[in-house]
Amino acid sequence: MEVLDALRAIVGDAHVLMGAEAEPALLDWRGRYRGRALALLRPETNAEVAALVSHCARQGIGIVPQGGNTGLNGGATPDASGAAVVLSLARLKRIRSVDAANDSIVVEAGCVLQDVQRAAQAAGRLFPLSLGSEGSCTIGGNLATNAGGTQVLRYGSMRELCLGLEVVTAQGEIWHGLRTLRKDNTGYDLRDIYIGSEGTLGIITAAALKLFPLPAARMTALLALDSIEAAVDLLARARADFGAALTGFELIAGDCLRAVTQTFPQLQAPLASATAALPWHVLIELSDSESEQHARARFEAVLGAASVEGLIKDAVIATSIAHSQALWHLRESIPLAEKAAGISIKHDIALPISAIAGFVRDTGAALQTSFLGVRVVVFGHLGDGNLHYNVARGADMDEAALLAREADINALVYERVHALGGSISAEHGIGQLKRELLPRYQDPVALSLMRQIKAALDPQGIMNPGKLL
Ligand code: FAD
Ligand code: ZN
Repeated sequence: MEVLDALRAIVGDAHVLMGAEAEPALLDWRGRYRGRALALLRPETNAEVAALVSHCARQGIGIVPQGGNTGLNGGATPDASGAAVVLSLARLKRIRSVDAANDSIVVEAGCVLQDVQRAAQAAGRLFPLSLGSEGSCTIGGNLATNAGGTQVLRYGSMRELCLGLEVVTAQGEIWHGLRTLRKDNTGYDLRDIYIGSEGTLGIITAAALKLFPLPAARMTALLALDSIEAAVDLLARARADFGAALTGFELIAGDCLRAVTQTFPQLQAPLASATAALPWHVLIELSDSESEQHARARFEAVLGAASVEGLIKDAVIATSIAHSQALWHLRESIPLAEKAAGISIKHDIALPISAIAGFVRDTGAALQTSFLGVRVVVFGHLGDGNLHYNVARGADMDEAALLAREADINALVYERVHALGGSISAEHGIGQLKRELLPRYQDPVALSLMRQIKAALDPQGIMNPGKLL
């Protein structure tokens, strides 16, 4: 095929993949979407990306950008037409520079998040973005989805961590926007337009990111609580007492943690069996800039007082870095345990923190009444008002029966979220999963402005067709 010959001339024969070699790129992480593609392209430089995009633009070929393919909304999966190419950024993986004095790092889009964390650490700095998928997700995907994770409470999501971008536009030009400045008021903020755009406006090829001082010590504890109200009260207290040192506050339903230890028996249940049966757990983390001793004294004082007041029923405080990692590992294994149990209907919602306890109580009861046999899986970043509120099948329900009710389950959950002023996507984005839902829940004027931006930056509609809008 002539088109493929032209693409091969740009990246080399070995990097235009088809058939079985392209197969893994056509299936999403959850196994919910399988698409087809003309080819999987694997450029190595921004110039190659620009040449590929120029060629596709001339031919009117759709382009689906892909990083680590860990996204949870089908955004990196092509449609079934087979007319688009998947463009993987995986080979753009150089750390271009680290400037410790400026607290910044410039990396290419295909860098795996964990490699960027390590490069920062090697320079005596912290790159704080932290997700369960950090061993395979990429900086480009993190930016394109404005990824959040477990450190947002203190450091913000990917948008807050980005100083500058390098982008290949839908016309195949390169925007060199890799500034490492904290302040720059020279017109519209193009960086913020591309962040969170899910590959629908252009291709991010590199980014300048913020670094932070490494904390002197971290304290982690897993707590057992008897109500979600207690978790919300504890969050307010921890915020007041720890201030900016509070770096993690994850809510975990008791049955979520039990599912993890049942699915992965090599992981130990940390709490005594009596308190492990309590309905809610909190994973709390403090990062201290002084010393281990200082951190421990502060941590124990606050947790001790909260126990005396009855907010906390039991606590396991990590005694070493390995112990703390083991506690975090339990939290990060929840999506894997969920996946092992089959398909669930995922909702990554945000609500005002003050509305969360009521939402969880009332929505859980309504789901149980309207959809007999479902199981609600609740965990997430309580400190950010962001919950993973997933609906799975109970023991007596099969997957097909659950999926048959998906639209009704979504409607029940999202109408309640909407009524409380919440968001239907706090983390994973819209992709193809929520595209049809967006017009119901997004402001009509905002939607119209988004469509105008899309038309202005990608008038041919070749960037990630069928996603987001
Ligand atoms: P992909 O899945 O490859 O792509 C995601 C989207 O970005 C697609 O629309 C794609 O077209 C676009 N894209 C990718 N690269 C580029 C680029 N260079 N330029 C333009 N567009 C691009 N997400 C969170 O926010 N918080 C979490 O805590 C979290 N935990 C997770 C835990 C697990 C176990 C898993 C599997 C996923 C989790 N995710 C989480 C979701 C996912 O990891 C993030 O969305 C991540 O940012 C995606 O990165 P990726 O490189 O895998 O992107
Ligand atoms: Zn999350």
